Amino acid sequence: MGKKIQDKKTKMREQPPEERIHNNLEVPYGYSEKEAVREANRCLQCKKPLCVNGCPVEINIPGFIGKIAEGNFSEAIHILKEKNVLPSVCGRVCPQEEQCEKMCVLGKKMEPVAIGRLERFAADWEAEQGEAPLLKRKKSTGKSIAVVGSGPAGITVAGDLIQLGYKVTMYEALHKAGGVLVYGIPEFRLPKKIVKREVEFLCRMGVELKKNFVIGTVLTVDELLEEHDAVFLGTGAGLPWFMFIPGENLNNIYSANEYLTRANLMKAYLFPEYDTPIARGKCVATVGGGNVAMDAARTALRLGAEKSLIIYRRSRKEMPARDEEIHHAEQEGVQFNLLTNPVAYHGDSRGEVKYAECIRMKLGEPDSSGRRRPIPMEGSNFKVPVDVVVVAIGNSPNPLIPNTTKDLEISKRGTVIIDEETGKTSKKGVFAGGDVATGAATVISAMGAGRKAAKAIHQYLTDGKW
Ligand code: FAD
Repeated sequence: MGKKIQDKKTKMREQPPEERIHNNLEVPYGYSEKEAVREANRCLQCKKPLCVNGCPVEINIPGFIGKIAEGNFSEAIHILKEKNVLPSVCGRVCPQEEQCEKMCVLGKKMEPVAIGRLERFAADWEAEQGEAPLLKRKKSTGKSIAVVGSGPAGITVAGDLIQLGYKVTMYEALHKAGGVLVYGIPEFRLPKKIVKREVEFLCRMGVELKKNFVIGTVLTVDELLEEHDAVFLGTGAGLPWFMFIPGENLNNIYSANEYLTRANLMKAYLFPEYDTPIARGKCVATVGGGNVAMDAARTALRLGAEKSLIIYRRSRKEMPARDEEIHHAEQEGVQFNLLTNPVAYHGDSRGEVKYAECIRMKLGEPDSSGRRRPIPMEGSNFKVPVDVVVVAIGNSPNPLIPNTTKDLEISKRGTVIIDEETGKTSKKGVFAGGDVATGAATVISAMGAGRKAAKAIHQYLTDGKW
């Protein structure tokens, strides 16, 4: 007789919403060893595991879960790290419900195995054991690589190539390494000590990190090519979009990038220890329905807003944010104004925003994104009182590198054009991957692109063929 499987995922304990909106500590506590073993035992250990097909970096999911079920946590993390250099990050922020967990066969009749929570457990267990042991490095190749940008794409390339015996220098524009993981995703979702540990690991492996170093101003890509044998561009999509509607230039209207950077990277939430200016409105409206919007709306509550609103032009079904983030935002009291879009902002005599003028929307036929197209309902305008607005409607790559690099082909969307299998750009010796090539996407897709590019860089520097 087959084993009886508990039909729901093992619950992960978390901070109660009424407490957590007054602090920045991580919301879920993670599994205890006992909880992890219980959850791991729900896995059927399928001979043909569909979950692996759902993982962009093809982690041996039944393999690591099987080891957790046996209580062999060190082997579990070993298996995870064969394919994923940032399991503590991915276990927390990957959209598992759209990837591995969506494919889990248990999901047909009951809740799928909580693969993300188990990944996080194994990575956190390793961190508790002390410093992670260094990985073996191959004999020096005598060749050197410049990695531009220290987000998940750059970290993956640097990690893979340092092991293969290359000298790796990572150039980062900001004063901290980690990309969106440090400046965008808030502490309550991804504690910064986790990213710091991963970056320190790379440095212990021998990667040289040059911070406050903007490529395109301090040095150009062409100058990097004079010093290094190949260049990888992992510069992300840090240029925020605006709607270009009347009043959008009023004071206290931020891009989500700026708002979250002030709050996270510049630690505005730690006032007065950090005296970072940020508007702390009573009523903060965030425009958008993705992870970035949820992060901004929840950050607003932690910065003291009495009311935090989401304004989103489609319905809840079309929201691109992860289910868990929407759920957490709702629990915390974020109010969702769906099928609504701002058309103008109105301010006071000091130039500060006071009202968002919005319009009701209805859904039409699906558009090129596959989601139903939002259509404005003429004459349905109404005003929403606000004193801070955060615009979280998307990002594209910063044009600095394209504007300062000869022969680098760029798409109409401003992304660097690459060969998807290798990350090769139109410029010899220059590779790219992650959000700079795809536009704003996910951590795991950036890491997947980094892995492919690292392999291709190694190939190029071994056989010299472009
Ligand atoms: P980035 O992480 O953007 O890193 C690029 C780095 O390059 C940055 O550090 C930047 O400062 C540096 N840089 C840029 N230009 C230069 C230059 N000229 N010289 C030197 N350095 C430069 N994804 C998920 O999977 N799950 C989530 O829950 C999730 N939540 C998100 C929440 C927010 C608020 C945001 C903004 C994004 C979120 N994402 C999420 C998306 C995910 O973080 C990105 O897809 C991912 O970080 C992209 O990685 P990357 O390495 O391509 O670029």
